[in-house]
Amino acid sequence: MKNTSNVLNEITSDIENQKKYAKRVRKIIAEKIDRKKRPLYVFIQTFGCQQNEADSERLLGSALSLGYEKADFIENADLVIFNTCAVREHAELKAFSKTGQLKHLKEKNPDLLIGLWGCMVNQEHRIDEIKHNYPYVNFVAGTNMLHRLPEILCDVLENNRRRYYVDDSDYPVVEGIPVKRESDIKAWISIMYGCNNYCTYCVVPYVRGRERSRNADVIVDEAKSLIESGYKEITLLGQNVNSYGSDKNEVSFAKLLERIAALDGDFIIRFMTSHPKDVSDELIDVIAKYDKIERHFHLPIQSGSDEILRKMNRKYTTDAYLKVVEKLKKAIPDIVFTTDIIVAFPGATDEDFNQTLDICEKVGYDSIYSFVFSPRKGTPAEKMENNITEAQKNERMAKLLAEHRERIVKINKSYENTVQKVLCDTRRNESGFYFGKTSTFKLVKFTYEGNNNIYGKFVNVLITSSGDAMLYGKMI
Ligand code: SAH
Ligand code: SF4
Repeated sequence: MKNTSNVLNEITSDIENQKKYAKRVRKIIAEKIDRKKRPLYVFIQTFGCQQNEADSERLLGSALSLGYEKADFIENADLVIFNTCAVREHAELKAFSKTGQLKHLKEKNPDLLIGLWGCMVNQEHRIDEIKHNYPYVNFVAGTNMLHRLPEILCDVLENNRRRYYVDDSDYPVVEGIPVKRESDIKAWISIMYGCNNYCTYCVVPYVRGRERSRNADVIVDEAKSLIESGYKEITLLGQNVNSYGSDKNEVSFAKLLERIAALDGDFIIRFMTSHPKDVSDELIDVIAKYDKIERHFHLPIQSGSDEILRKMNRKYTTDAYLKVVEKLKKAIPDIVFTTDIIVAFPGATDEDFNQTLDICEKVGYDSIYSFVFSPRKGTPAEKMENNITEAQKNERMAKLLAEHRERIVKINKSYENTVQKVLCDTRRNESGFYFGKTSTFKLVKFTYEGNNNIYGKFVNVLITSSGDAMLYGKMI
């Protein structure tokens, strides 16, 4: 998919060189601040998944380290970066539409720098579109360029020209990028980048490259220092966390998880996403052993039809999937499952769809993230014949959601009159409510009559009622 012939791909330096570029950028920023007699502001907007959120925290950290301050509103920004997503067309159209809206900001402030980052712009055809339709975009950079923000800004600022950087998808993981986390109690840790699975519908392996695992000691140190500085929830991220380490004989994901779970402190660990073909017995044992590991497993099924799973190149059957679920339920009786489903994959018949409804019933998912199939350029599924009509797509989606709603109302009802340990992750809102999540990833809205500061604390909440979207209760 990546033909770099008509893109500039000259950046070859490493993190040490970045420090030299950073020095030059800081000088330019300081001069601008002097001239304008006000701070320079950066605004970063993220599209897509948690891994993008985590990347954006590094982009922001880098920008702050170069002398920018965080803008509260995009209108105030001197540097705007959109960290884009390519998984479905909808996300790409949204990023383009937002980029279109930047034109008037650029007219008001010609000094404004605009950058498009990440998955969407790691595709040749999207770069062409940006070149032709969005000439006011100053720079474009792919997913693996995070550590090179100083170099990119230096180039753009010193030479005042447009730059398009497509990255090398096998670029090794670079450590030491400054990070500014969005939350002071919940932290993402990307443990690996890329994906080797090549599901036939998915663009991720093309735009994020091959699987590259971070060193386990570095990850454990990062987790330790987060916990020591008061973080209560650590989420380990990767496109397929279960294959962590397999690219370089690192420790297994189960061992990594265990090392973090064994750290001292009051915290919870979440992780995503797991590929059903790689859930090991070792991993199940570790989850069962440590109650610091969430009782929630996000296990994307995608389809309940073996024929469609084969066409998707998912490398498991529904039987194999259900066996994993059974094992997990047996070892960890309070575990809940959430999933991703692609509705209207090419060739999926009504019978295939009914099999998807069946498996949802069998597993009893707590949440279903359902997506209508979106053809992605360069993937095998893009070329598959697809005769499913819009009406059928809508009908299937509506049915899936309606059945799920019926199920979730019952599941949520079963929480009533129980006491749940909840991490309170908001301050009291104007109506007097707090919010938090259970270990099973249920959203809880609750009241608290006392005066202590419970933000960032694990509290016990008596669940008094429930709906399809959340549980309601009071702290006891
Ligand atoms: N690595 C993760 C998530 C990948 S993207 C995993 O394998 O589960 C998140 C979800 O987006 C996928 O699970 C899938 O359900 C959905 N998705 C990916 N490509 C898609 C496409 N072309 N059309 C519709 N949904 C898609
Ligand atoms: Fe995409 Fe499949 Fe990799 Fe997930 S496992 S990122 S769906 S190719």
